[in-house]
Amino acid sequence: MITLALSKGRIFDETLPLLAGAGIAPGPAAPSSRKLILPTGDPQLRLIIVRASDVPTYVQYGAADLGVAGKDVLLEHGGEGLYQPIDLGIARCRLCVAAPVGFDYANAVRRGARLRIATKYLKTAREHFAAKGVHVDLIKLYGSMELAPLVGLADAIVDLVSSGSTLRANHLAEVEEIMPISARLIVNQASLKTKADRLEPLLEALGRAAAASTEATP
Ligand code: ATP
Ligand code: MG
Repeated sequence: MITLALSKGRIFDETLPLLAGAGIAPGPAAPSSRKLILPTGDPQLRLIIVRASDVPTYVQYGAADLGVAGKDVLLEHGGEGLYQPIDLGIARCRLCVAAPVGFDYANAVRRGARLRIATKYLKTAREHFAAKGVHVDLIKLYGSMELAPLVGLADAIVDLVSSGSTLRANHLAEVEEIMPISARLIVNQASLKTKADRLEPLLEALGRAAAASTEATP
């Protein structure tokens, strides 16, 4: 049996067409069914539904052979025990610094001001600001980062942005892009050896499906 870990929402929704492209019909049950283990049309492949930030952990320990996780999540996890063969090109967005409209971020950085930054991406944010030589106090949050500057918890946030509509709705603006983000297929390193006969064709098929859909919508 091969186990593929996915998170609900856009990762699940955007991985299904790739599985279909690899000839794997989704199981009868959608994740809305509250089931956490879903069969697929391939009796040798099942899906498990976990929190986005837990996908690398399930794969690292071999509870899942494969998983789909955003680059944001993989950077925070560190990638230990994971083989990362394919950028699937799905769940695209960017990791950004955002601040209230009117906050002169570039000037604050130039002056060497100490900035309070709220984020769930502590590791990536720490590395980003250290590389720029910007002094920051990082405040760990688990969600709704946009709120933090509005109530004086932080000067700015580090968060994912796609359309920018959530930022605009909260009178925030992107002041710096840290990196583009997309979801990657990750594989347990031991599974890759012990289940190579079943995993290799699947990796190849998913890679082809991802390349085909990236060509269609670059
Ligand atoms: P959790 O619910 O466990 O806190 P989450 O809120 O990060 O996780 P999602 O919002 O489903 O879960 O995001 C899953 C992944 O999708 C992220 O890790 C990121 O790679 C990508 N993603 C997040 N936000 C966006 C976005 N606005 N546009 C495109 N992709 C995104
Ligand atoms: Mg979310």
